[in-house]
Amino acid sequence: MSLRVFLAFPAFVISMYIAEPIPLSAQTSSAEEALIKRARAIHEKVINLDTHIDFAPADLTGERNYTQRLETQFNLPNMIDGGLDALFFSIYVGQTREAQNPDAFTSAGYERAYKLALEKFDAVQRFTREIAPDKIELALTAADVRRIHAKGKKVALMGVENGYPLGEDLSRVKEFYDRGARYLSLTHNGHNQLADSHTGERDGWKWNGVSPFGKQVVAELNRLGIMVDVSHASKESMRQTAALSKAPIIASHSAPRALCDVSRNMDDEQLLALKKTGGVIQVFAYSSFIKTTKPDTAERSAALATARKEFNLPNQTGPGQRARFQAALKALPAEHLAQYEKKLIEIDKESPGDPPANLKDFVDHIDYAIKLIGIDHVGISSDFDGGGGVIGWNDAGETFNVTLELVRRGYSEEQIEKLWGGNLLRVMEEVQRVARELQK
Ligand SMILES: [Zn+2]
Repeated sequence: MSLRVFLAFPAFVISMYIAEPIPLSAQTSSAEEALIKRARAIHEKVINLDTHIDFAPADLTGERNYTQRLETQFNLPNMIDGGLDALFFSIYVGQTREAQNPDAFTSAGYERAYKLALEKFDAVQRFTREIAPDKIELALTAADVRRIHAKGKKVALMGVENGYPLGEDLSRVKEFYDRGARYLSLTHNGHNQLADSHTGERDGWKWNGVSPFGKQVVAELNRLGIMVDVSHASKESMRQTAALSKAPIIASHSAPRALCDVSRNMDDEQLLALKKTGGVIQVFAYSSFIKTTKPDTAERSAALATARKEFNLPNQTGPGQRARFQAALKALPAEHLAQYEKKLIEIDKESPGDPPANLKDFVDHIDYAIKLIGIDHVGISSDFDGGGGVIGWNDAGETFNVTLELVRRGYSEEQIEKLWGGNLLRVMEEVQRVARELQK
């Protein structure tokens, strides 16, 4: 096992969370070495594309930015370490509810969201054009992705998460296209003016699917050549979108619901509807949507909190905090780390917890989706800096581990190439071909 595979997680985390121990370098058999070598060769050859990574504009354009190794799951040094080639930066704007802001669905609410979206578009443009143009370049087509990758540069793309900032202005779809958007998800968490969100399973429905304006937006996305993204949409919104769209649709970051029953995921019927459009589900490594874990007992929570306090570690409260926690852990002097490790083993013995999803759980979701809808309709995304948290692929620096696990399960180079971006690029090309037809 190469050092890099273990670097991001100290040994104790691995021992805590992975039931089957991975052989350590000293005992690595020659068969294992050959497998790693083969995986490494495949990883270096194919274009590794991640369709969903969140960011704060300041992390792209501030004094401290993604050219440095920030305490984030994604940044350029991590991307280089992990051999990740391309990513969609998420132009994400959260959903405002009327309960929080009475003007959420008026022009004032839309205007606030629109300004936030523009800030993110501008940040990606500035990062790729002014801050790191020698390292990363913006792609607008599948051909761009291949061209930029062939030059040895990293590839940035943009996808809009949530159609809310469109307001009720259809011309903004074209504006977002011109700014570089190549996918747009109709909703986020909470219903908007375009469609119902998956959160309606808890809150009730607003439109019973896609709104009349949402239908116009889908047609406009098709006409322009922007991929329609159904992640976060309700089942009914998703099914209506699949029927409405004249081009293949995508789920930029979702997982099969059969293996983790949360409304955010997609059931078999939805996956089959997505396949029928020719589209692709980009299975995401968001721990709590890959595996539902039982909450810690009060005893365990208290013991963990005390240990963190003792070693001056941040209180780890959610997936978004994990990168920060990991960075603090890496910064501990070796002696303190060893003491902390000892403490965790004691806590584990006295009050064991339900471990978060690991790489095997994640790849189980990929396997499941492939068995149901076929290798041509499945891809990979991380949801880094908006989630993530899968042990073994918890930052961009650990990206090789995914390829290694795929090779371990017997996937061929051709199959891995499809999963790691080939399918997504095929859909992107098809969406752009349909757009040219529609514009005739
Ligand atoms: Zn999301």
